[in-house]
Amino acid sequence: MGMTLIEKILARASRRATVTPGENIWVNVDVLMTHDVCGPGTIGVFKREFGANAKVWDANKVVIIPDHYIFTADKRANRNVDILREFVREQDIKYFYDITDLSDFKVNPDYKGVCHVALAQEGHTRPGEVLFGTDSHTCNAGAFGQFASGIGNTDAAFILGTGKLLIKVPSTMRFVLDGEMPDYLLAKDLILQIIGDISVSGANYRTMEFAGEAVGRMTMEERMVLCNMVIEAGGKNGAIAPDETTFEYLRGRTDKPFEPVYTDADASFYSDWHCDVSKLEPVVAKPHSPDNRALARECSDVKIDRVYIGSCTGGKTTDFYNAARLLKGHKVKVPTYLVPATQKVYEDLFTLKYDGETLSEIFLSAGCIEPAAPSCAACLGGPKDTFGRLNEPEVCVSTTNRNFPGRMGDKRSQVYLASPYTAAASAITGYVTDPREFLS
Ligand code: SF4
Repeated sequence: MGMTLIEKILARASRRATVTPGENIWVNVDVLMTHDVCGPGTIGVFKREFGANAKVWDANKVVIIPDHYIFTADKRANRNVDILREFVREQDIKYFYDITDLSDFKVNPDYKGVCHVALAQEGHTRPGEVLFGTDSHTCNAGAFGQFASGIGNTDAAFILGTGKLLIKVPSTMRFVLDGEMPDYLLAKDLILQIIGDISVSGANYRTMEFAGEAVGRMTMEERMVLCNMVIEAGGKNGAIAPDETTFEYLRGRTDKPFEPVYTDADASFYSDWHCDVSKLEPVVAKPHSPDNRALARECSDVKIDRVYIGSCTGGKTTDFYNAARLLKGHKVKVPTYLVPATQKVYEDLFTLKYDGETLSEIFLSAGCIEPAAPSCAACLGGPKDTFGRLNEPEVCVSTTNRNFPGRMGDKRSQVYLASPYTAAASAITGYVTDPREFLS
């Protein structure tokens, strides 16, 4: 019997010839990522269990990315970043993407922004490896054919001390996306479609492997959108077979050799879901759950108060390019917040052009609020002074990934998850809007 690509990665990481879903195995970890929200807790457990003077298992395999609550006056949030700084100094951690001058993030070349996008841009997402992170959207890196999964602080502390983790091998649900992608659909529509079909617990502790010609034609940033949101279906991790698109993205970002693996033709799957993407329509996830799917056109009577384009899911260069493409020549009717995921994405807004204008020129002519400093910002609510936070019971169309009550701030607010096209179309009309109204 053949194996899936994830089973092959886990077999290699546990030094076995084969693994079977359901087995408990010890895996060797290639990369551990943590950030300012969970890093301090992880460090606390590490010191308690391994000793105040303990050293991490490998200072070159720990990646620390402050990204969540950076641009805030909140003292506890600031203290969290200080704890990371002390730990990095003490342990001589190689990869630390710190910010030292908060008055202007642009003068901090080390500062990146949202961890999952930064991990990819800095070349830490390598095919065939095992990545754990103290953040549920660590599954984002499955787009590179890597086993990548979110873990809690205790597991992360154990990895810091030993470089290993005991895990159960997940079974794999395969999602085959075939057909020609219509011009008005984005990866966000596809993943919201799938989550709407299988529910927020439909992939509990399973791998969601994406395949098919529509996936093969996607950019890495679009593939990341699929894998980023597998956790919204309860998935342990996402997976996409690496190909030339993957290798091209990684070229120049990492010089560490990696060994891709591929799913065997006779591998067995827990389930096999097929769809012709050319038949799909733009969708949203209505409040208050990512599986509360509706067609965007069915929500055209929903009046909105703002639009938010940002996060690891919907704040990458491609997301802004797509939003700009739709907004060009139009004016927004509601406040439209733009939060680039990383400093690199921010720079792209001022250099990348669509139809003769930079993305930032298009956004400003349309009346959007000036792009903010890169961070998680209001995706996770955050302290009251967080840029874009929903501090009132407002209705928001957002390119983020989660819309549980209070996720973006006020518990009474309502968040509609949508693609950058749908978000931009909704900004123009002030209602939830099918982007086909603006795309020929
Ligand atoms: S952007 Fe949002 S989902 Fe992504 S890591 Fe930050 S808080 Fe989490």
